[in-house]
Amino acid sequence: MTARDKEGPTIAASQETGSDTLTVADMSTMDVMRRLFWEILWPNRRIAGLTLVAMALSAATSGAVPFLMQVVADEVFVAKNEVLLYLLPVAIIAVMSVRGASDWVSKVSDAWLGNTLVADLRIRMFDTLTSADLAWVQRTHSGRFVSAFVNDAPVVDRAAAKTMTSLVKDGLTVIFLTAAMFYMDWRLALIVSVGIPFAYLYLRRQRQRISGSVRRSLKESGDLGSLLTQTLQSLRVVKAYRQEGREAARFRVIVDNIVRYLMKTARSRAAVGPVTEALSGVGIAGAIFYGGWQGIYGSVTVGHFAGFLTAAMLTYQPLRSVAQTQALLSEGVTAASRIFAIIDHASYVTEKPGAEPLKVPQGRIVFENVGFSYDTGGAVLREFDLVVEPGAKVALVGPSGAGKSTVLNLALRFFDPTSGRILIDGQDIREATLSSVRGAMALLTQDPVLFDDTVRANIAYGSEDAGERRIVEAARAAAAHDFIMRLPQGYETVVGEAGSRLSGGEKQRIAFARAMLRDAPILLLDEPTSALDAEAEAKVQTALEGLLQGRTVLMIAHRLSTVKRADVICVMESGSIVEHGTHEELLARGGAYAKMFRTQFVGEAPGLAAAGS
Ligand code: ADP
Repeated sequence: MTARDKEGPTIAASQETGSDTLTVADMSTMDVMRRLFWEILWPNRRIAGLTLVAMALSAATSGAVPFLMQVVADEVFVAKNEVLLYLLPVAIIAVMSVRGASDWVSKVSDAWLGNTLVADLRIRMFDTLTSADLAWVQRTHSGRFVSAFVNDAPVVDRAAAKTMTSLVKDGLTVIFLTAAMFYMDWRLALIVSVGIPFAYLYLRRQRQRISGSVRRSLKESGDLGSLLTQTLQSLRVVKAYRQEGREAARFRVIVDNIVRYLMKTARSRAAVGPVTEALSGVGIAGAIFYGGWQGIYGSVTVGHFAGFLTAAMLTYQPLRSVAQTQALLSEGVTAASRIFAIIDHASYVTEKPGAEPLKVPQGRIVFENVGFSYDTGGAVLREFDLVVEPGAKVALVGPSGAGKSTVLNLALRFFDPTSGRILIDGQDIREATLSSVRGAMALLTQDPVLFDDTVRANIAYGSEDAGERRIVEAARAAAAHDFIMRLPQGYETVVGEAGSRLSGGEKQRIAFARAMLRDAPILLLDEPTSALDAEAEAKVQTALEGLLQGRTVLMIAHRLSTVKRADVICVMESGSIVEHGTHEELLARGGAYAKMFRTQFVGEAPGLAAAGS
């Protein structure tokens, strides 16, 4: 092993704490069961009721078997009753048929409940993710979320389905058979049951162990998902820096950990069977000895004893299943509490009750004495004041980390200011509905976001009701129509994951077309041309011009060409505006902008990316 290989474990270990930033709700088994009952089972109570009835019927028919055995032995073999010889097979066939039918119904409806449960949990998790605060979702590694959908949810399903079957069907079977045993001979029944208290104590300990190892294995699975997505996203860098070995070592450590915890779980779970088996063996041995003794010296008949023994033997399988359910149950509860941690996540950015839609006749944006800090650090914006007049183009410039992106985030209400307020056409955006605030703006970023769908769907994203004509118009306005028509399937071409089949400029023009179609009165730009080369930039320039026409624009600018387009340039430093004015005014003033101009922009050949974030 090389020194580099050895790095794996330490890296993975340090990553362990960082990647799972979700706090898992500290929920007891009862809490989780109660929620699953009220939130999932109760709304589906008809199917749940049907399952219960079917399971009860199946259990009851099991309870009838020992009695039939007793009758066979005593009446047919001993008393030679011929009538019963004809009746009994019919009775047995009837009992077995009822049992088969109820088994089928219970299994199907139980599977339905389990699948519905998982579907419901997944939908609710997805809803939370899409409506939750951006800050929280971004802070948590995407792999952790993916893992909740892919790994945690099926564990809940398996546990829930099995638990229902075991606790209800097997539990009832055990109760019926135990009742039958006590009814037949309470002394023998007591002897058979000696092991139960010990089994209970043992199971409780195993359950705690299993819960611990399951929690760890699910967490490791989350880390696995995180590492996988991270590696796939940065594969170019991984290869370029020849870190394949290191990544593989990290991966191996996590996989080994998962195996270790899964084996721990498997060992604890497997130990449940033999121990309950041994304990019931002791009980049955005792019953045979006592029953045999009574047979020789007492008054116990063969039928009585055979019936009793059948009951005892039949109890064994469902009893074992109930015992093993304990293990599954703790797995399910652990996984469910991880899922509830996502579902229960509270948003800070919420809509006020009775919020009205924002009215944007003009598109005037005002930042009034806004202060802001991310919950992880100090003040990012301080007493930030800015007025963007309707139709004006305002550029934010300044060093990386000055807070420019934060200003856009606040305008879109991805976060709320810590102090001060943001007004659009005189209305505090916190008082308006979230969808109307975001609907009033279109956002264009450096790296346009395309979905793995057709070009048409990508343009119509957010304007699903737009017809063919408007889509093509938007594409034309964004100088995208011609290249789209040259694609293999035109507007129906699927763009690939994150638009991988298109060039940077093409992606950007599709994003422009999307914003065109959206036709929002306010445009927020995060230097959408900065990632393009000179040629691509030249092509999108005209498209951008058209897009800016007649809208209020707040943009982050790194390039001179973008900056010059602005009516007002605001120079930001450490979360405040230190200077503002037109390009010429600011140059003449000889302050921060003039300095920036000299260091960054002077000599900027068209397309030469300026320094900055
Ligand atoms: P700019 O866009 O001017 O480069 P940003 O607005 O991105 O600046 O960042 C301003 C400050 O806020 C930086 O110090 C950055 O580290 C911090 N910051 C940005 N986004 C977050 C976030 N989601 N969570 C915590 N801190 C953040």
